[in-house]
Amino acid sequence: MSVSYWQDRASGVSEYDVTIIGGGLAGLSTAFWLAQSDSSLKIAVVEKYLVGSGASGRNAGFITCGSVEHFNRMVGKHGEKQACAIWKFGEKNLELLQEKIIGSNAEELGLESKGSFSLAGSEGEFTELKESAALMKNLGINVDVLEEQEIKARLGANHFVGGIKYTGDATVNPISLLHHMKNKLLIPQGIEIFENHEVFEIQNHGDKRIVKTNLKNFESDIVVLATNAYLPLINNYFADKIYPTRGQILVTEKVPRFMEGPCYANFVLDYFRQLPTGEMLIGGFRQLQKDTEVGYSDQTTEEIQTALESFLAHHLPPLKGKKITHRWSGIMGFSADGDPFVGALPADPQLFFIGGFTAHGVGLAFHTAKCLSELIFGGEVPSFINARRFG
Ligand SMILES: Cc1cc2nc3c(=O)[nH]c(=O)nc-3n(C[C@H](O)[C@H](O)[C@H](O)COP(=O)(O)OP(=O)(O)OC[C@H]3O[C@@H](n4cnc5c(N)ncnc54)[C@H](O)[C@@H]3O)c2cc1C
Repeated sequence: MSVSYWQDRASGVSEYDVTIIGGGLAGLSTAFWLAQSDSSLKIAVVEKYLVGSGASGRNAGFITCGSVEHFNRMVGKHGEKQACAIWKFGEKNLELLQEKIIGSNAEELGLESKGSFSLAGSEGEFTELKESAALMKNLGINVDVLEEQEIKARLGANHFVGGIKYTGDATVNPISLLHHMKNKLLIPQGIEIFENHEVFEIQNHGDKRIVKTNLKNFESDIVVLATNAYLPLINNYFADKIYPTRGQILVTEKVPRFMEGPCYANFVLDYFRQLPTGEMLIGGFRQLQKDTEVGYSDQTTEEIQTALESFLAHHLPPLKGKKITHRWSGIMGFSADGDPFVGALPADPQLFFIGGFTAHGVGLAFHTAKCLSELIFGGEVPSFINARRFG
């Protein structure tokens, strides 16, 4: 959207120390950590729709360690030491979320700490999972290998040749988490959240940045871009660093609970979990439509929804004949190398950014935002999330 001369003249300007663009998990978490570091900061969060309208309110709620691939592949790509550091970074994310945000509200926020399973549909993938488990055990990461029969017994799932269970992961109701952050933590601390404000331009005025929206303009010393998949629409720097990628999910009616914990399948591409209230959530299969699943079109497609239903029928007998009650999609920000990033624009050191969570923001964004806050205050960030790696 653009804004006319008349609309612009009618908008007032308000002054802040920091303006954060994007009311998702990354934006709210950044606001949280900045306020923790300096409670006198005047912070505005500016969101185009409502808090949680983007991927943060549309995801599956897995709070999991690791990245887009099995651990053996992480080791192949980064080496053992760095792969272990990335895993520990995810563990710390959950620890920080529990300590700073969730506290005694676990039940209200739908938090369940049941670990997570990675299931293999083929012998080849099971070999990789066993290799991953061996590497993880060597590094002190708590993981068990499961054979086919155990998967049937503990998860009610058929046609998986084997799998592994990592005990440290959790799941959450993502929108409850965001609303809790907004209403119970950020607003009471004096952080102002402006919903239905779409940013269309950021101007430089000497030491100040003016963030222009459809309703009001924000003048501040520092601006943080936390618009995830939409980063390339705000600044061309992100054109070769972020790829908007659609994810699709469906949810069934309730059945009595039968699964021990949430599961990934098919090399972390597909995922399913039974919600605390009994419904089954399943998502993934973007690999079936690689061309159409990249871009900003935020609608479900028949091909992927049919594949999700076929997966249920094939693997999860307790769901046979159950009604689908919800279907939705969301746009994720995939980074060029699968890891998230924080940094400042080379052309403007006061314009910071956070993003690229590549389908793992619930598992990574809170800790990543802490690192961004430290960077803004002059600190260093771990190399695997440092945007300088892109050159
Ligand atoms: C279907 C699906 C399933 C997923 N499952 C999981 C999971 O189980 N576990 C996990 O860890 N991750 C999962 N993810 C990924 C996770 O949701 C994201 O990594 C995370 O939410 C990213 O948070 P964010 O704040 O960076 O982005 P977002 O939540 O997308 O927030 C960006 C915000 O910026 C706003 N915005 C954009 N442009 C403008 C503008 N011009 N002006 C103002 N505001 C603007 C948007 O409206 C949006 O609210 C999933 C994602 C999807 C879509």
